[in-house]
Amino acid sequence: MEVANLEAAFERITVTDENDEQISSSTTSYHKTKASLANAASLSSLSSSDSAANRMKLPHQIPLQKLATQNASKNAANISKVTITSSSTRPSEVNPSHRRTLTESALYVNPATPKAWHLGMFDIGKPLGKGKFGRVYLAKEKSSGFVCALKVLHKSEIQQGKVEKQVRREIEIQSHLAHPNILRLFGHFHDPKRVFLILEFAGQGELYKHLRKEQRFPEWKAAQYIAQMAAALKYLHKKHVMHRDIKPENILVGVHGEIKISDFGWSVHAPNNRRTTMCGTLDYLPPEMLRGGGKDNFYSEKVDLWSLGVLTYEFLVGEAPFEDTQVMTQRKIARGEYTVPSFVSSEAKDLIKRLLVLDPEKRIALEDVERHPWIVKHCKGSRVQIGSRSSSEDETY
Ligand code: ATP
Ligand code: MG
Repeated sequence: MEVANLEAAFERITVTDENDEQISSSTTSYHKTKASLANAASLSSLSSSDSAANRMKLPHQIPLQKLATQNASKNAANISKVTITSSSTRPSEVNPSHRRTLTESALYVNPATPKAWHLGMFDIGKPLGKGKFGRVYLAKEKSSGFVCALKVLHKSEIQQGKVEKQVRREIEIQSHLAHPNILRLFGHFHDPKRVFLILEFAGQGELYKHLRKEQRFPEWKAAQYIAQMAAALKYLHKKHVMHRDIKPENILVGVHGEIKISDFGWSVHAPNNRRTTMCGTLDYLPPEMLRGGGKDNFYSEKVDLWSLGVLTYEFLVGEAPFEDTQVMTQRKIARGEYTVPSFVSSEAKDLIKRLLVLDPEKRIALEDVERHPWIVKHCKGSRVQIGSRSSSEDETY
């Protein structure tokens, strides 16, 4: 199916009200808790104005995902109390044919049946966090017992932020991604005031917190994380999706310690919007996105390779390589100027050097990242091959 058709179809799944007026809406107020990049789109497939070659290829038919019951049973106990009211939803309104049985497949929403879910189908547990556009709660799908994270976005905020179109597009993209190192979006639904995203629950929370607690990761751990990142990016790039906002704040950790790229862009703005880009931290910004230039200043998915280099450095050193004042950071990025402390191994230094290359075309390819001696040394035969066992899942798409 052409992207244009899909987007057109998706336009009909509007965030403005169509029904569900019976659902009472709690006015969940929130505020921003941490600096979040208002910078370039987090995940963004190249828009229709970009080259045809870069269009995301989406499937005609989407098979149901494999069942994944273990998280559900493990985490079900964590659901303690209900904090969002959903009592006014009438079960009779749910088409029984839309009810799915058990586990992850129960959460999978085919775009053709976008209205299958409603709040009454979930038990809501503890809050997991707050973001710029909403709160996230632990939740359990009642009929299957499947544990997930429910992200609640307020339509008024989405409208005020003028990000309705981006929200729709990002939902469309993320719901078609299935990789062990990318946070799943199983589906979405809405009531008069809110949009709800049914997300995979990342049991160990934010990677950023782990990094701050440990200050820096040992090489084996950093290497295993980077291998998982490379596998996830390879998957995204194959689908012509570039993330563009790789950094520890946007990575969650699953129950088994595996990383999950998240944050697919509620702060999303038009690609190449450099003015917006300049609002956030510059630490992860690749030189080609920093450079001046007119509307022809396009960049490719190779931006993610640069950010992967910055991430490798930050994992090993505990701070980003170009950290400085805004002006100095920009200058250092533009020149590719950084120093690696001596406690970092020479193999790791070599990988960083091959990723932090000014010319995007000369950066090491993701396949070669996976084959790099530093990665091989720390990942061979390791239990954390989670990130690299993606091929079988890829095939279903
Ligand atoms: P922004 O709005 O700028 O994206 P953010 O990434 O902090 O900010 P959210 O993605 O809404 O906002 O998430 C808020 C917090 O909730 C996260 O920082 C994380 O701690 C927690 N969280 C979000 N999604 C999940 C999830 N699927 N599993 C576990 N925790 C989550
Ligand atoms: Mg986020």
